[in-house]
Amino acid sequence: MDSSHPSQQHAETRLVTSGRDTKAQKGFVNPPVFHGSTVLYPTAEDLHAHRGEFQYGRHGTPTTRAFQETLMALEGPQCAGVGIVPSGLSAISTTLLSVLKTGDHLLVCDNVYRPSRNFCNGMLARLGIETTYFDPLIGAGIDKLFKPNTRAVLVEAPGSQSFEMPDIRAIAEVAHARDALVIDDNTWATPLYHRSLDQGVDISMQAATKYIGGHSDIMFGTISANAKAWPQIAEGIRLLGVCAGPDDVFLALRGLRTLSVRLAQHHRSGLDMARWLAARPEVARVLHPALETDPGHAIWKRDFTGASGLFSIVLKPAPQKAVDTMLDTLKLFGMGFSWGGFESLVIPFDCDAYRTATKWSPGGPTLRLHIGLESVDDLKSDLDRGFAALRAAM
Ligand SMILES: *Cc1c(COP(=O)(O)O)cnc(C)c1O
Repeated sequence: MDSSHPSQQHAETRLVTSGRDTKAQKGFVNPPVFHGSTVLYPTAEDLHAHRGEFQYGRHGTPTTRAFQETLMALEGPQCAGVGIVPSGLSAISTTLLSVLKTGDHLLVCDNVYRPSRNFCNGMLARLGIETTYFDPLIGAGIDKLFKPNTRAVLVEAPGSQSFEMPDIRAIAEVAHARDALVIDDNTWATPLYHRSLDQGVDISMQAATKYIGGHSDIMFGTISANAKAWPQIAEGIRLLGVCAGPDDVFLALRGLRTLSVRLAQHHRSGLDMARWLAARPEVARVLHPALETDPGHAIWKRDFTGASGLFSIVLKPAPQKAVDTMLDTLKLFGMGFSWGGFESLVIPFDCDAYRTATKWSPGGPTLRLHIGLESVDDLKSDLDRGFAALRAAM
């Protein structure tokens, strides 16, 4: 293997070597933050021809170029382009608006991020685009939900609350036979652990707010597409006028450089905590596809090379007040939305409040945990105190 050529390098190496132009940066390792709107053209002829590497701030800067090249190298050879947008939700809305039109039909997995559903039920419905939700475990059975006007299927693997694992390969096979695009929200695994474009996905989106940023300090979204879908995405981004702030692009690139070590630790600590929690008497079930006992484990093992630090647990039946006491006792697990940063988090959730294609009856209170980069021993003793408070409040 010739490791001097990027296509022969491992993902960890590509994350470090891609998108670097040391000469253009006067020897410095990283590109500066280009704050810019106007780009000056040297001659009238250049102006008329739109000649030049960069034309306008909204269309990109050397910093965004470096980020795009690095993420493309991580996505793999199927990736024809990477779009940059101001948030994860913007990646979802921009993608759907780019590939759908009035009269189209969209299939959406019942376990997707709730604001994705809100976008479909709100703006897409208003534009005359119909959405049908489907069981995350439907697999090739999705065929019967297709209509002549079905243009796209939106999946999230695993769903970031209930952690069911849709079979993207089976769904993609059906979708492509029906001439529909497959869109994947790949935020949980990132392309480091799930090369979704290699597995039949046409458009792979990420809330880069999460693991790519990695430090809970930016809002950022990415849309990676194959050659079939990229022209529509590029046009959609241009028409909608979305872009991201220069400091956030810089921080996202900085996050990409260390993604492999952070994610490896989230994987290890997450699994360690998941196993520990599975053995606790207060816990009825742990929802984590990398656990051998998880119903989605076979698909995870086939399609993913790692897991991140986000998973859920179902507690044995307990009054909400007792669970709240537990949450208030925790010191290392902060309560807050989002995840993917260096810090541990916990949040109660209720999937049944919004699902429509499937009923989700966990049989007890549900908590979603993000395992950060703290020592797992400290995290366990924090949860130990939390469980003691839960028992005392029952
Ligand atoms: C957080 C999240 C989003 C939205 O990202 P924002 O940057 O917060 O807009 C989309 N999908 C998933 C799975 C997420 O967890």
